[in-house]
Amino acid sequence: MNTSQPAEDKVLSPGLYIVATPIGNLQDLSARAAATLAAADVIAAEDTRVTAKLLAHLGLKKPMQPYHDHSAEHVRPALVARAAREVVALVSDAGTPLISDPGYKLVRDCRAAGVAVTTLPGPCAAIAALTLAGLPTDRFLFAGFLPAKAQARAEAIAELASIRATLILYEAGPRLAASLAALAEGLGPRPAAVAREISKYYEETLTGTLPEIAALIAAKPRKGEIVIIIAPPAAPAPASEADLDAALAAALVESSLKTAVANVTSSLGLPRAQVYARALALKQT
Ligand code: SAM
Repeated sequence: MNTSQPAEDKVLSPGLYIVATPIGNLQDLSARAAATLAAADVIAAEDTRVTAKLLAHLGLKKPMQPYHDHSAEHVRPALVARAAREVVALVSDAGTPLISDPGYKLVRDCRAAGVAVTTLPGPCAAIAALTLAGLPTDRFLFAGFLPAKAQARAEAIAELASIRATLILYEAGPRLAASLAALAEGLGPRPAAVAREISKYYEETLTGTLPEIAALIAAKPRKGEIVIIIAPPAAPAPASEADLDAALAAALVESSLKTAVANVTSSLGLPRAQVYARALALKQT
């Protein structure tokens, strides 16, 4: 028996299985992912030629069905119907399906039809890059790819500018220099990281401020698959006593003491006790 081949798992119950696959290093495919692909009756694949290579690596030959969320109308209902009675695996070319990849509508329709949905967690470039960057991980926003056209890109960056979270963007080598230049212009000198070819031979992570990394890439362009990670905006300076007095004076004209204190506490982010004490003092003068 060839132990390198995943054994077919006959006990899998019917349903849709979302199978994450490697983003570079084939050893990152989990044993459970391999067993699920081996047990699948059909594999819904973003690109069947790419998935055929992964299956060949596993010593498997399986029926495949090309799948995109914009596939012809009959494809998705047919897959949902099959998932009701068979094991349907969903894979994308690399990483976690549905993350900047097809699958969301298939999951939505399986749920609507009462078909079981199981996910097999695994590689995802966004999360892998976040772990490499050395930037805050407690709150992050995945924003996918920036638009290719300059004006739409600048607008998208302006929309991201005020978000108080680490930003994660996908990018491809040829567009990296232009995107970094636009990010440096739109977001200023925030700390950032560019993680390239994660888990592959030319893996590299550059760190610095956005203008520093933009200059580096402008001088020496990089190829391959890329994730950009950007630190949240710096916390605003705490409101001064003058700010507090001005905000309270305006609020007390329009509202009761209680409402004015609540509104100013929330707008200036100061402790309620401090705002309340100052409001009382102002009322008495
Ligand atoms: N579903 C995938 C995932 O879970 O990461 C992402 C698919 S998206 C179409 C492809 C993009 O992911 C690439 O353009 C790149 O931004 C990023 N990516 C994929 N593999 C990568 C790798 N090995 N290193 C860095 N970025 C990668």
